[in-house]
This record gives sequence, structure tokens and C-alpha cells, in this order.
Amino acid sequence: MPGGQINKTSNVENYPGFKKIDGPSLVMNLVEQLNNLEIKIKYEEVIDIKKDNYFSVETKKDIYSSETLILAGGRNPNMLGLENEQEYIGKGISYCALCDGNLFRNKKVVIVGGGNSAFEESLYLANLCEKITIINRSETLKATMILQEEVRKAKNIEILYNNEIKKINTENDLIKSIDLKDRTIECEGIFIYIGSTPNLELTKNLNISVSNNYINVDSNMKTNIDKLYACGDITNKNVYQIVTAASDGAIAATSALRDMEK
Ligand SMILES: Cc1cc2nc3c(=O)[nH]c(=O)nc-3n(C[C@H](O)[C@H](O)[C@H](O)COP(=O)(O)OP(=O)(O)OC[C@H]3O[C@@H](n4cnc5c(N)ncnc54)[C@H](O)[C@@H]3O)c2cc1C
Repeated sequence: MPGGQINKTSNVENYPGFKKIDGPSLVMNLVEQLNNLEIKIKYEEVIDIKKDNYFSVETKKDIYSSETLILAGGRNPNMLGLENEQEYIGKGISYCALCDGNLFRNKKVVIVGGGNSAFEESLYLANLCEKITIINRSETLKATMILQEEVRKAKNIEILYNNEIKKINTENDLIKSIDLKDRTIECEGIFIYIGSTPNLELTKNLNISVSNNYINVDSNMKTNIDKLYACGDITNKNVYQIVTAASDGAIAATSALRDMEK
């Protein structure tokens, strides 16, 4: 299936040119555009990449060689590991408050996590939702003191420490409540901010430079390795969105083309 993480959202409202579009439809538009340009898509899993004079990209079906290469393997949000979690992604469970917050206007939601993302997003949701409960697994928070103070000032945000979701309760395909260690709370949305894992395993033979597990690139999207580029969520950057992934991709492709023309 093409499209990566965009398929996980039912509502994209921040991609230029579309007032509102669901993720899979946006993907199909992109695929159609590639088809019109006669660019082939291969549905194969890459299992290894090596570099000699050329790059050698091994999939489960074939080996491809190329002079330049762009890595765009993206990342996957870390999950809680609950029984029906996968099923409710996009139907109550979200990893992006900015993208999905509007769906929970005047509703009760929970945020899982105690870092900057969880706290920043809780402040964003505080303007939209009736009540936000932050659930933090330990006694301590990783969010900066400034964010913690702002969250404590918000009237509709509560923080629960030393707690975790044990079960997601649903009715008619909608989330109704969650069971914590010591109580049940009503909520219609669950935002999970317990980190993401970039798909870096393919680069194990490349000696690529990374910071916090994300690939370091320069302003041309070039990695530390000659003729190797990276773009999108697999790279070390500040904003992880479709529009920035597309922009990175355009820069990487233009840079790679220049390399080939040299
Ligand atoms: C629930 C959710 C909602 C979101 N909503 C929005 C939104 O509304 N607006 C917004 O701007 N952003 C949103 N985002 C973020 C956005 O989806 C990402 O920033 C964007 O998809 C990044 O694109 P990418 O191509 O870099 O990575 P990805 O989307 O992660 O795509 C990576 C692709 O590489 C493939 N791949 C990985 N490993 C291999 C391999 N070994 N072999 C072959 N293929 C491989 C994957 O299958 C995938 O297709 C959302 C993210 C999530 C999780």
C-alpha cells in the first residue's frame, strides 16, 4: 500500500491546495500524479542497502543499483501495545493533535506521555476540548518547566502521575472510556505521545550520520555519504508534516539530479 503514515489519518486540513481531504484520498491523488508522469512504483520491501561505486538496494524480490539514492523510509509512532489500539487509529486514537484536534471539539480526551510533545499538544487541545487528562507513567515529567507551568495554569487540563491505560472501552465503534490502573475515565479521544521510531534499520551498512536516531542532512537534503540523500520523517528536523516531507523530497530529488548531471 503506498502512502505511509498519511493513511493513518482521516482528516488532513493543513496540506496546501486541499481545504480538507482524508489521508488515503490524498495518497491516491499522489499515485495518480505519478502514473500520469509514467513513474513506476514497485511494491517491495527493501531489506538491505550497500554502497560500493554504486548503491545496491536489495528487496525481497530483486536487487537494484543506482548512482544516487534518496532514503524516505519515514517513521512509525510508538504504540502503547493495547489490544484494540491498532483498530482505533484514526477512529479515536491519534498521534497528531494539530491534525486531528478539530474532531474532538468540546469533547473529553486523554493524552498519554509526559514530554514536550504531550504538553505542547495538550495546550493546543485545551482551546478545543472540554477536558484533557494527561496520563504520565511515572512520578516525573520530561516536559520543560515552562510548559509544565503553562499546563498547570490551564483550567481544563489534569495531570495523572504513576498511571497508564490498561484497556480502551468502546461502543458502536467509538471510544467511550479507558480503564487506568486505579479508575475508569470517560473520553472520546486518545492522543499518544510516547515517541516515534524512524525506520533506520536499512541504513545499518552505510555508516550514516544520525542524531537521536534521525538522519542528519544538510540544506540540500544530503547525508554525510556522497550521493546519498534523505527526506521526510526519517530526517532530523523540527516539523514533521506532509508539506515538509514533500518539500524535503523536492529538494532531495533536485540535488540528486544535479549530482547525476555532473
Ligand atoms: C495519525 C497521523 C496523522 C497525521 N496527520 C497529519 C496531518 O493531518 N497533516 C500533516 O501534515 N501530517 C500529518 N501526519 C504526519 C505525516 O503523515 C508525516 O509527516 C508524513 O507522512 C511523512 O512522510 P514520509 O514519506 O517522510 O514518511 P512515511 O509517511 O512514514 O512514509 C514512509 C514510507 O516508507 C515505507 N518504508 C519504510 N521502510 C521500508 C522498507 N524497508 N522498504 C520499503 N518501504 C519502506 C513505508 O511503508 C512508508 O510507505 C500524521 C501522522 C500520523 C501518524
